[in-house]
Formats: sequence, structure tokens, C-alpha cells
Amino acid sequence: MLSTMQDVPLTVTRILSHGMTIHGKSQVTTWTGEPEPHRRSFAEIGRRATQLVHALHDELGIDGDQRVATLMWNNAEHVEAYLAIPSMGAVLHTLNLRLPAEQLVWIVKHADDKVVIVNGSLLPLLAPLLPQLTSLDHVVVSGPGDRSVLDGASVRVHEYEELIAGRPTTYDWPELDERQAAAMCYTSGTTGDPKGVVYSHRSIYLHSMQVNMCESMGLTDKDTTLVVVPQFHVNAWGLPHATFMSGVNMLMPDRFLQPAPLADMIERERPTHAAAVPTIWQGLLAEVTANPRDLTSMANVTIGGAACPPSLMEAYDKLGVRLCHAWGMTETSPLGTMANPPAGLTEEQEWPYRITQGRFPAGVEARLVGPGGEHLPWDGESAGELEVRGAWIAGAYYGGADGEALRPEDKFSEDGWLKTGDVGVISEDGFLTLTDRAKDVIKSGGEWISSVELENALMAHPDVAEAAVVAVPDEKWGERPLATVVLKEGATADYEALKVFLAESGIAKWQLPERWSVIASVPKTSVGKFDKKVIRKQYAQGELD
Ligand code: ADP
Repeated sequence: MLSTMQDVPLTVTRILSHGMTIHGKSQVTTWTGEPEPHRRSFAEIGRRATQLVHALHDELGIDGDQRVATLMWNNAEHVEAYLAIPSMGAVLHTLNLRLPAEQLVWIVKHADDKVVIVNGSLLPLLAPLLPQLTSLDHVVVSGPGDRSVLDGASVRVHEYEELIAGRPTTYDWPELDERQAAAMCYTSGTTGDPKGVVYSHRSIYLHSMQVNMCESMGLTDKDTTLVVVPQFHVNAWGLPHATFMSGVNMLMPDRFLQPAPLADMIERERPTHAAAVPTIWQGLLAEVTANPRDLTSMANVTIGGAACPPSLMEAYDKLGVRLCHAWGMTETSPLGTMANPPAGLTEEQEWPYRITQGRFPAGVEARLVGPGGEHLPWDGESAGELEVRGAWIAGAYYGGADGEALRPEDKFSEDGWLKTGDVGVISEDGFLTLTDRAKDVIKSGGEWISSVELENALMAHPDVAEAAVVAVPDEKWGERPLATVVLKEGATADYEALKVFLAESGIAKWQLPERWSVIASVPKTSVGKFDKKVIRKQYAQGELD
């Protein structure tokens, strides 16, 4: 028997219409580096997004599911593009501005992007690549930056403001199929070519509702969220859509992502929430330790994308800022878990829950798979690879313009679950603790050593600013840990003392590293995570003492 419910497609168009009317007064504030930041209401964002749709359709010929790319910082115009492009039936493709040039070229070609909307300050990055970006017909430039680098380009160049000016602010929106592509994002291709994940209108809608639930970020129109996580990193963790759904004000850092301006914007604009990877929070902590600022408005911060060291959480607790740990991937939209402890616990009892990766929401099913393919119990002890499925979890990768969707065996199980490549345990009440990425685990004499556990323990030492531990080949044991540490200013390296400290924090004797190196900074990936493959390479080339 079928239900008697209406079948209304869950689309980004509906998020746009809702946000610009019901929450028309909420604001997007963009940091400009000028004395006053730039402010735009959701109503205005919605009207300008609609004008952008007219321009893309009438002037640039976008009339179907063509890919429209963005190469932009987090700002109001990027939010307009986020809402406009999917709402008209086209596909938003966010380009990671920190990728190496050859990967950007590969991705634009693979996605067959027709238009790119680019911030003027990023033209020096885009312009030299244009001769290779042969799928592109149009470049739309927004915001400050020297345009002359585009002189002689073989594409049509438009000014964003001129392009949308005077166009109608209403549109006869198409009724889209909710399963249709709305946006795409490529994984950063740490192994092999980047892989395209294509989000549907339905997956974005459902994911946004989950982000807004109290057991996730739980924000309302009384909140302002500082969106540090780039809009090219898994849709800024879903925030631009989720906020438009519930009227949450957004504070956008644009290109001012360094610790000092971030501290300034927090003190001045007093956001109640923020989202970023651990390295951003490490940098901000060093900044406010040197030059104190008031961060206490941020009652609640979402930290994820890489393991959050418990010592970092403790340091922010002392500043009155509560970090909430989350796990996810490009393939999971990204919300997979969030570490809000269960009800009825004291602060002390909450702590063991807070340092896990968190608990699965209703929309994400999880299982742990052992080396022989067996399913492991949720007992907090049995470690295996995490597999997930759900309405906002990828079931395949984009295969290119003419290709079938790709389902590589190492990424999808036969019965369609996503193999995350993350190893961990799950407690009886559904809290996930990741011990490592499968490719980062150190396999020493048949036993596994968790690089993350060693890093977390090291980063709790008062002299250590950052620590990254990688597996290196060892004749006797197969692999052993190499600990690379960044020392705080004025500290000197005492490896023996660090070993004693690790042992005292509960690391087993046989897991203690015998190879150490002090480095100036840990190499980072394009989204600010520790780049362990670079450390392994440096070690192999004898560049680390
Ligand atoms: P990339 O693979 O380029 O880093 P993603 O942003 O999709 O791109 O990364 C997803 C991976 O990041 C996860 O599979 C996991 O290994 C890691 N990760 C994300 N959040 C956490 C977390 N809270 N703790 C530990 N690892 C995390």
C-alpha cells in the first residue's frame, strides 16, 4: 500500500526560497580586511542568486545539467553561487584552490566544466591554466583583483556584478527530480586520480536537516557560525545549505584565514559557533596565547576532518570554548558522526565520550569489518574497517562525461556500503573511536600501532606544538614509528624525556618510537590536514635527521 502523503521533491531550490523569505533578515557577513566587514541579508542573497540564474541561462547558455565551477573563498557571492546553480538544474562544482595545477586541470576537464566563477584575487592561479582548460567557455570574475592577467584569454570574460545587475529577481523555477545531481566535489586524490562525488538535491536537503538537529550542530537564527572550513571542502560541511534552511547567520572569512584575522573577527563579530579542521584551531590557540583575545562567544565549535587531539580540547575548555568532535568524508557529505555525549552525565563522565569521533545519526548506518570480511561486534574493543551507508553517503564516483559511475572494489562493498578506509572500534551505544586510517597504521612485528594515539599523546606535552607519526620500513619489525615533532618556541628537543612522557601517558613500551625528528612545521594537505605521505617521502630521501 502506498502512503497518502504528497510527493514533494527535496531540492536546493526549496532551501533557497525558504531562506530568502522566512529568514530574509538573517545575514552573511564577509570579512574584507577593511574597517567594516561586508553584510548582506538572506533576502538579498536570494534575489542576487536569482539574478545569477537569469544571467547563467540567458547570457551564458546554461540550460541543463552543465557543470558551473567556482574557484572562490568563503564569501557572500560564493553562497549565491551555491544556491543559484543547483536551483536552476545545473551542477555546482567547487574547485579546491589549493590543489596542484595539474590536478585542477584534470578535474575541470573530467567534470567538463563550462563556466567558472572566480574571485579576482585568485586570477593569478587560474589565468596560466586557461589554455589547458579547454572545456571552459566563460570566466565570471567577482571581487577585488587585477583583471589584466586575463588579457588575450580565449574564453569570454564577465564581471559578476555587471552580469547580474538589473536582471529579474524572480524565476520560474523548474520542478527538479530530487535524485538529480546538484553539486560535485572531488576527493583530494592522495592516491591515484581525484574521484568525483556527486551530491543530489535530496542528499543535500536531508544532510542539511541533520546538520541542524540538536544532536549535530543544532544551530538556530539566534546563532552566527564562523565558516572557516572552505566552501570547496565538502560543501563547507553542509553549512551554507543548513544555515539557509534555519536562518543561521554566517560569518565568512574570505581570504583572511590566518590566525590573527580569525581572532580579530571572532572578538569583533562574536560568532556563537565555528567549523574548521584541527590545524586551524592549533594556529588560533598559539595566536591567542601570544596575544589574548576574547573567544568566549563561541559556545560550541565543530572540529573534524582529522583527529582532534584531546589536549587541544582541554586547552579550549580553559578558554571557555567547547570543541565538538565530528567525523566525515567527501563521500559522506560529510556529516558521519558527532561527539555530543549522551544525556545525564557530569562533565567528568562526558569526557570519554567527547574524545571519541562521536555517534552516528539516524541517517547513517555503520558496521565494522574485520580482515577476513567478517562483521565485528560493537563492544568498544573489536577493531575493524568502518563501512557506512545512508541517504547522504556516496554509492559510486562520477565516471566522466561518457562513463558509467565508478564503483572501485576497494571503496564499495559488494552490497553497496562505502568502505571508509578508517579503522576503529564502536561502543555498544554507537560511539565511534578511530584508531587510524588503514594506510597510516604502523604494522610492527604483526601488531598494529596507532599513529593517532602516539600523536595525541605527544601533543599533550607542554613543549610540543604539533606531532605527526608515520610508519617507516624496519628490517626486524617490518615497520616502526617515526615521530616528527614541532617544538614550541624556546623549547629544546629531549627525545628521552618525550619517550618517558609517552610511557607515562599509557603508551606500551614496544610502541614507543626509537626514530625521532624535529621539524619546523608538519606538511599540510590542500585542506589543512597532516600530509603524512610527504613526511614518508622526506624520510625515504634522507631529508629528516
Ligand atoms: P582527504 O581524504 O583528502 O583527507 P576527506 O576530507 O574526504 O579528504 O577526508 C576524509 C578522511 O578524513 C576520513 O576518511 C578520515 O580518515 C579523516 N577524518 C575526518 N574526520 C576525522 C576525525 N574526526 N578523526 C579522525 N579522522 C578524521
